Amino acid sequence: MARMTCKCGETLSTVSVPNEIELYVYTDFEMDKINEMDIQDPFDIPDPKREVWRCPTCERIHVFEGNKVVKTYILEKENVN
Ligand SMILES: [Zn+2]
Repeated sequence: MARMTCKCGETLSTVSVPNEIELYVYTDFEMDKINEMDIQDPFDIPDPKREVWRCPTCERIHVFEGNKVVKTYILEKENVN
């Protein structure tokens, strides 16, 4: 997945690297396993199980399974400016 339109209308793209869209989200268990690996090069750090994108406009969080968005989280109203 490299490009999608957020529900707010913003176009999200991870084509340019680095970008402010993709977040690297690991559980504590996954992080423990990574810490146990003998990693010399940061590029050897395994990718997270799922891609997680954050919209810079509305701050919605989109969680992917493969190329498909399976969950979208939106800020609760009291937190929206
Ligand atoms: Zn958005």
